[in-house]
Amino acid sequence: MSADKAAVSKALNLVEDRRPEAHSRVAGLLAALKGSPKAAAGHRVGLTGPPGVGKSTLTSVLARSLRTRGRTVGVVAVDPSSLRSGGSLLGDRARMSFDPGDDGLFVRSLATAGEVGGLAYAANSSVRVLGAAYDTVIVETTGVGQSEVDVVHVADTVVLVIQPGSGDVLQFLKAGIMEIPDILVVNKADHDELARRAVADLQGALRTAQAAGASAKSGSWETPIVATSATKGTGIDDLIDTLDAHRAYMETTLAERRRQGEVQWTIDLFNRKHGEHGVSTLGGVATLKARAERGFEDGETPLSLCEHLSREYVEQLRKTA
Ligand code: GDP
Repeated sequence: MSADKAAVSKALNLVEDRRPEAHSRVAGLLAALKGSPKAAAGHRVGLTGPPGVGKSTLTSVLARSLRTRGRTVGVVAVDPSSLRSGGSLLGDRARMSFDPGDDGLFVRSLATAGEVGGLAYAANSSVRVLGAAYDTVIVETTGVGQSEVDVVHVADTVVLVIQPGSGDVLQFLKAGIMEIPDILVVNKADHDELARRAVADLQGALRTAQAAGASAKSGSWETPIVATSATKGTGIDDLIDTLDAHRAYMETTLAERRRQGEVQWTIDLFNRKHGEHGVSTLGGVATLKARAERGFEDGETPLSLCEHLSREYVEQLRKTA
């Protein structure tokens, strides 16, 4: 069944409304979405990677292929170019092309950050809303290593997209700066020889990274490498099969992964707002994690919890002033 697009739009507008007067409705909606059977059965896919590798082109092609397999798809496209001066970093970024008349497909673009953490907040909330309405949610964002929107916290499957010849990513992986993704995609594999070399280099980098023990979260899952050409449409079926395989692998641990993602998200939100001083004033990361876990059991959401913690911090500051 397809979701009602108008209702989805309304819910998205609500969760992105950060005015205090909207707060209790937002918290109520986010809490209600948590129990959604659609969300529990669904798949949140995070596509990330450096600018220009073809993420938005790949997202369009992937969404269309999923639709032809009869699945409904929600897309959250995060464009952090607005966060950088000039905004030229994304170069000739391709526009996504979607059929606006398709009820089984919903695309949300997020570009403006507003306050610190605003974009991350909007992206996370949007993924939750779309997850309650569509079979697969794809969240696409630029970034390697440190970026404002960390898909790791919200995605069930993290896909790192690179293109042949991108040595930086290999270095990041080897140096342990990046978390090891669940799936690696070498896009632009239409450049045959270069692509083959890129796949071989990646295999080497993964072995180094895995040997260094950086893959604790992955368990027995060995990060597959998929070669695609988004412009020619090759490798897309292989990518979907690999995504399905990872979703099946996650079946028993998914609820826990999502819960941990929410805990981490709460701490990130708080940290972005108040920095190290805030975190240490409230007892450090471990204490905050324990509080978040308890809070979620009591029906808190990352947003409500972060606001409670903020009030507490401000209170402490006042006392010591
Ligand atoms: P993003 O910044 O990662 O979202 O990259 P885009 O999707 O905007 O693509 C950047 C450029 O690479 C555009 O000119 C695309 O047409 C091109 N591109 C995307 N996928 C492929 C591919 O598989 N092969 C080739 N040759 N070019 C591609």
